[in-house]
Amino acid sequence: MIKINDNFTKLQASYLFTEIAHRVAAYRESHPEVDIIRMGIGDVTRPVCDAALEAMRHAVDEQGDAATFHGYGPEQGYAFLRDAIALNDYNARDIDIHSDEIFISDGAKSDTGNIGDILSPDCKVAVTDPVYPVYVDTNVMSGRAGNLVDGAWTNLVYLPCTLQNGFVPTIPAEPIDVVYLCFPNNPTGTTLTREQLAVWVDYARKNNVLILFDSAYEAFVTEENVPRSIYEIDGAKEVAIEFRSYSKTAGFTGMRCGYTVVPKELKGIDRDGKEFSLHVLWNRRQCTKFNGASYIVQRGAAALYTPEGKAQVKETIEYYLRNARALRDGLERAGLIAVGGVNSPYIWIKTPDGMKSWQFFDLLLDKCHVVGTPGSGFGPSGEGYFRLTAFNTHEATLEAVERISRLNL
Ligand code: PLP
Repeated sequence: MIKINDNFTKLQASYLFTEIAHRVAAYRESHPEVDIIRMGIGDVTRPVCDAALEAMRHAVDEQGDAATFHGYGPEQGYAFLRDAIALNDYNARDIDIHSDEIFISDGAKSDTGNIGDILSPDCKVAVTDPVYPVYVDTNVMSGRAGNLVDGAWTNLVYLPCTLQNGFVPTIPAEPIDVVYLCFPNNPTGTTLTREQLAVWVDYARKNNVLILFDSAYEAFVTEENVPRSIYEIDGAKEVAIEFRSYSKTAGFTGMRCGYTVVPKELKGIDRDGKEFSLHVLWNRRQCTKFNGASYIVQRGAAALYTPEGKAQVKETIEYYLRNARALRDGLERAGLIAVGGVNSPYIWIKTPDGMKSWQFFDLLLDKCHVVGTPGSGFGPSGEGYFRLTAFNTHEATLEAVERISRLNL
């Protein structure tokens, strides 16, 4: 018999969204007449903008003509997109990132999951808690997480982010090698200020810690003192890798495109203490395991940086942010404690009366026919919280608020 990677047997059998789907399906079967509003899974609803569609149509035509056909592209992505990113997302904001430090991906999930390939299996990893589950599960798969005991992995360091600490992770007391930071945060929708993020960069520099900074939601940042990129902080290029995604920014969830910045300053050591460039290692990894994102989709992504593309993306983001504001304000009026929604499409609710996350899920499903995500599914510190997203239509969002208000919580 084939010997499997035993780490996979440690993964929890029931994935959060499978359980949600299961409960919703069961409810629908017994209540076929009700109109369920889905505010759980973080998929978008607005279509891809015209600028990207037009660029992709053109690219499709190019693929049908031998003179303009594109076969395998560069594993790191096409220069037209890498240059546009360096210029618009970084240089225009006074951040010194070069296009050859940018690796185009098929989305941030792949790269946040795959980055562990270039790190030692012995690295001590810290995650904020609650957390985007991909960081945890991929470390389970690679054997860095240890064993699951009482809902927490024994080798991971958990950094609780709760109402008590204003959702700002505290520097851990024990030594770590790697920390995943995601701001604006999924699932809490909260952010760090530039000063708060600078504390982490400073700590990472002094303690040889690698920060894996997921800024998949940077496009939702509205406040001046909230950084969109970790490289806004001096010295971050020596300690941080940044992941970005076009999924939520431009409705690319079904098209698959994002990018990862691995600065050339970033160094690591092997077991003999010899220094290596993480940029070189990641390039080697990508050239071996990845054949580049689709040419057509990269053309679509590049069009997001044209004046029309920028305006259309802005319009979509504003639509979701309007939903987020309506949701948060409405929930607060209804007497709930809710955070997020200002620089993020996520609203994080403290469940009322000490209710467990799944109890609140059942209550909202049964009494309001609104589906959200139980906070406990994102980690131990998510218990007693609940996530709603702003990705539904404005009408459905207002209707959900109305129904929740009627609960008189
Ligand atoms: N990172 C975070 C924090 C996310 O919430 C998500 C998607 O929900 C992703 C990454 C994945 O993005 P992509 O669609 O680019 O793979």
